[in-house]
Amino acid sequence: MLDQRDLIEMLKLRGNEQEQLFEQARKARESVFGNRVVVRGVTEIGNACRVNCEFCPMRRENTRMNDRFLAESDDLVEAAQSIKESGINVVFFQAGEVPQTTKMVGEAIPRIRALYSDDVEILLNLGNKTRSELEYLREQGADSYILKHETSDPELNARMRHESLVSRLKCMSDLVELGFKVGTGGIVGLPGDSLESIANDIMLAYEMGAHMCSFSPFVPAPNTPMSHVPPGDVDTTLNAIAATRLFNPEWLVPSVSALAKNKEGGQRRGFEAGANVLTINFTGERNSERYLIYGKNRFVVRRDYGTRLLDDLGLKAGPSVFVGSQALPVFR
Ligand code: SF4
Repeated sequence: MLDQRDLIEMLKLRGNEQEQLFEQARKARESVFGNRVVVRGVTEIGNACRVNCEFCPMRRENTRMNDRFLAESDDLVEAAQSIKESGINVVFFQAGEVPQTTKMVGEAIPRIRALYSDDVEILLNLGNKTRSELEYLREQGADSYILKHETSDPELNARMRHESLVSRLKCMSDLVELGFKVGTGGIVGLPGDSLESIANDIMLAYEMGAHMCSFSPFVPAPNTPMSHVPPGDVDTTLNAIAATRLFNPEWLVPSVSALAKNKEGGQRRGFEAGANVLTINFTGERNSERYLIYGKNRFVVRRDYGTRLLDDLGLKAGPSVFVGSQALPVFR
């Protein structure tokens, strides 16, 4: 298995050596997944958050200033219907960290499972929740959960999120114990991070028993204390994606929209670096404008763009690898 030193060396590569790293990562991906990319359909369902992350425009201190929204269970079922009509069987709901999402999402899940005759993965990204809330969501039929640690450096984590890394990891181990497929990962370019801490991010994901691991470059967003911090380096992020793939070829590794926000063609390069997950956004126009994860000018991945991107790369859209028949004709 690769160790911290191997990972750091990979993170440094540029030019021809970087291309060779990407080629190895693509081969590792192909050996497990062939040319299939898992396609998710995400809907953003609420923009209030009790956490005060330094880098996020939806942080608690912005609550009054932001145009708040919180969906209802019926909205989630309606969104899932559109995702199903597009031939996607990973239904993904994402929101800021507020307790209200537990009941709202929990009530919608059985209805969505019925819509799909159970051939569906319900993926959630709703922040830290108590073990009993997670238990409830699992019983209602949630399959998977994304909870990024953002950085494995405890001091930097506390400075960026004003929360303890320990509480994040406790929630992550609850998720693993409850049988969720768990995704985690980091942000590249937080002030004070290092190649060591990025390598540790990958190793921590493995130690925690994660099934998915992602990296995104830091995006300076307006109305945050970090609006003037330089953006995270896309090449280092791409190398982190390739190193993640090589560390554990079986992980799901997304190529995220923030790569495209920081550099034209960045998301395409994520797939060239070995990523195998694409998330298509199904949030309606009005709520999409209010979901300020990288500020108002974020890059929103819609279906036509995703289809073209995969076609160009010679990759095929595929269904969930965790649940279902895995035979759903995807991406119509
Ligand atoms: S990054 Fe997530 S947890 Fe942090 S303030 Fe934004 S929505 Fe909340």
